[in-house]
Amino acid sequence: MLNGKKIYVVIGAAGTGRRMSSPVPKQFLRIDGKTILEMTVEKFSASPLIDEIVVAAAAEYQDLCRRLFADLLTAGRLSVIEGGQERQDSISRAIGFLQRKGAADESILLIHDAVRPFVSPALIRRIAEKTMETGAAVPAVPPKDTIRHTVMGTLERSRLYCIQTPQGFRMSLIRQAFAQAEADGFYGTDDAGLAERAGFPVALTEGETANIKITTPEDLPMENRIGTGFDVHRLCEGRKLILGGEEIPFEKGLLGHSDADVLLHALMDAMLGAAALGDIGKWFPDSDERYRGISSMKLLEETGRIVREAGYCLGNADVTVICQRPRLAEHIGAMRKNIADALGVSAELISIKATTTEKLGFTGRGEGIAAEAVCLLKRGW
Ligand code: MG
Repeated sequence: MLNGKKIYVVIGAAGTGRRMSSPVPKQFLRIDGKTILEMTVEKFSASPLIDEIVVAAAAEYQDLCRRLFADLLTAGRLSVIEGGQERQDSISRAIGFLQRKGAADESILLIHDAVRPFVSPALIRRIAEKTMETGAAVPAVPPKDTIRHTVMGTLERSRLYCIQTPQGFRMSLIRQAFAQAEADGFYGTDDAGLAERAGFPVALTEGETANIKITTPEDLPMENRIGTGFDVHRLCEGRKLILGGEEIPFEKGLLGHSDADVLLHALMDAMLGAAALGDIGKWFPDSDERYRGISSMKLLEETGRIVREAGYCLGNADVTVICQRPRLAEHIGAMRKNIADALGVSAELISIKATTTEKLGFTGRGEGIAAEAVCLLKRGW
């Protein structure tokens, strides 16, 4: 509320990330355990100016959003609605939703990108105040790079601005702008464009260079995480020996609920450990019949997916297999390729080494095979 007028926020979060090849839509990637969308919503829910937030999300993310924002939903401070095909359709639905809820013509609507989590309280206030004064206001920052037009050549930088969100509008104005765009079947790149098209001037307010739109992995704050894994399986007769997804000719094999690929188990534990997501026992319990005799390559693919959905990609991994016999050297190339293919990365990122223990201990006596792994995860996709 500002000067007795309610302030609503619409956050367009219905993008499904198909174009960006991220494993989940970017707004659902996590930074330090929190989704980007939560970080964005918190900036507004923490502002004393904001009365109500509407999140427009795709149908398949409605449940997740309701879980993420359960407290704000209960408090009546946030609503989750289903977005449309295009961003503009989602915002249009949100405007209609607020109209049905009785939002006054004189109230203020701020429209914000889900993937701009670094918006500051000061910027929210600046936009709200400027909108109150002018009817429509957007944050702008000067471009950092020189911009060259294919026809006009180098453009005069002092006359150029990069436009950010939140973009603020008097409710009656933005309703009219959207109604006109819809009537004409016009799709714009932002909401201010629709307002200008409908004849309303849009004021520029100082934006913030930190208020970036997360678009590529480089936009995410850098984070590297390491993890280790260790596993042992007993050698026994009558089982195949599978290591790194390769069947190795040998008179014995490893005993286990799955195919007992000790190398992959150590690697998966290192990956899950780096993401602090527990271990393979948690994700693929040996009490679960689905995993009886399963190829650990399948579990590795699944582990890769789990880690990617948590917002990480593999930096590199190094695995040491501790095994007296058989000799593994000639199989290492194929194992590296299997792992790289399962994780969708280059084999250059995967190192596998084998060592004996000079006939000492259980591995030296050929009673079992052990493996240890270390891996680095990077934030990104
Ligand atoms: Mg194991």
